[in-house]
Amino acid sequence: MRLHLLLALLLAAPALAQSALSREVERHAASVEAKVVGWRRDLHAHPELSNQETRTAQVVAEHLRRLGLEVRTGVGGTGVVGVLRGARPGPVVALRADMDALPVTEEVDLPFKSTVRTQYNGQEVGVMHACGHDTHVAMLMGAAEVLASMRATLPGTVKFIFQPAEEASGTGPGGALAMLRDGVLENPAPSAIFGLHVFSGYRTGEVDYRPGGVMASSDGLSIVVRGSQTHGAMPWAGVDPIVVASQIVLGLQTVVSRQVDLTASPAIVTIGSITGGVRGNIIPDTVTMSGTIRTFDQGMRQQIHERVRRVAEGIAQSAGATAEVKISLGNGVTQNDPALVERMRPTVRRVAGKGMVTGQSTTTSEDFSAFQARIPGVFLFLGVTPEGKDLKQAAPNHSPRFFVDERALPVGVRLLSNLAVDYLEGTKGQEPTAKPR
Ligand SMILES: [Zn+2]
Ligand SMILES: [Zn+2]
Repeated sequence: MRLHLLLALLLAAPALAQSALSREVERHAASVEAKVVGWRRDLHAHPELSNQETRTAQVVAEHLRRLGLEVRTGVGGTGVVGVLRGARPGPVVALRADMDALPVTEEVDLPFKSTVRTQYNGQEVGVMHACGHDTHVAMLMGAAEVLASMRATLPGTVKFIFQPAEEASGTGPGGALAMLRDGVLENPAPSAIFGLHVFSGYRTGEVDYRPGGVMASSDGLSIVVRGSQTHGAMPWAGVDPIVVASQIVLGLQTVVSRQVDLTASPAIVTIGSITGGVRGNIIPDTVTMSGTIRTFDQGMRQQIHERVRRVAEGIAQSAGATAEVKISLGNGVTQNDPALVERMRPTVRRVAGKGMVTGQSTTTSEDFSAFQARIPGVFLFLGVTPEGKDLKQAAPNHSPRFFVDERALPVGVRLLSNLAVDYLEGTKGQEPTAKPR
């Protein structure tokens, strides 16, 4: 009888160990809740623009050192990396938060409202955490404290990545690429990465969790159409680039609607600016256009790039003009690894409960995609709009009225901590599966 009981206990041991760890997470997470709100308010009152996150980095680094982590600063600019080595052997997992604010003047009436002003592109602007990265930093600081308290039972290593300049990735290289260049995924090399973003489109504490492309790739498009200048009254004496550019704008509308499989995944080709000519009776030499291309699938991204070139160059050629097409690669697709999503689903369901939702893809982009291009990764969205507020009226991210219900923060801390712990526990004894790809 006793033997049977012992056997049953031994067989149940892995399950018991896992729930013991998650109980430990819950206990520690409860004890950091107030601190996380405090950090968030401090960061909110002291926002810093992309690549200028020096105070934020200092706050983070001091916190991680106090917790006894190995800390590296100046990674990819102002980035900070903390490494927590658990006492038990196991794999390495990474958690990422972005740190930068935006040139937006805050209009939310809060006691810790930002009053910071600075110069940006030659203009005086306010600075605000209008994308909620203050909450990302505070929640990851909280998760670091939770997990550091569990060092003795932690089966593996957690790498905390505090990334600068995510917002810069919309217009040039962002902080993720800079950190990757500085070896953020080496020594030790994580086999998976998790990140989350607060989002006003969901209720406080709701978690949008799904596989595949959750945020778009974002590539810049520039087209220079060269004709031959002539009198507006004698178009036959030259080549009119304005007519050619107009045909190209219309031709590009057929790339998504006629030339790729619309049922597989949505995509967008937009021309947002068109410039050419100085006077009504002069046909100019050149017309310049710029635009953006968004996709949710890496293969379709390549197809669209090829077809945009083909359409623009072909139309120009048919008129005796030329089109020089330049596509500048921006953020890739934020593509959640399907196997990792499936594997961690029970963890997210446990933490989010009924709040686990399957949302829609968003056509904005994220440089978290740069990490996902190297190792399997999952990006989650956390709702921050309280009950009683109309979700459709809630100010979106980047608005001067963007508002975060702080009751969502404990959910974020528990998500990050539990994802790390369950990933380590579940991967124990397995070979790391990460391959460069
Ligand atoms: Zn943003
Ligand atoms: Zn953001």
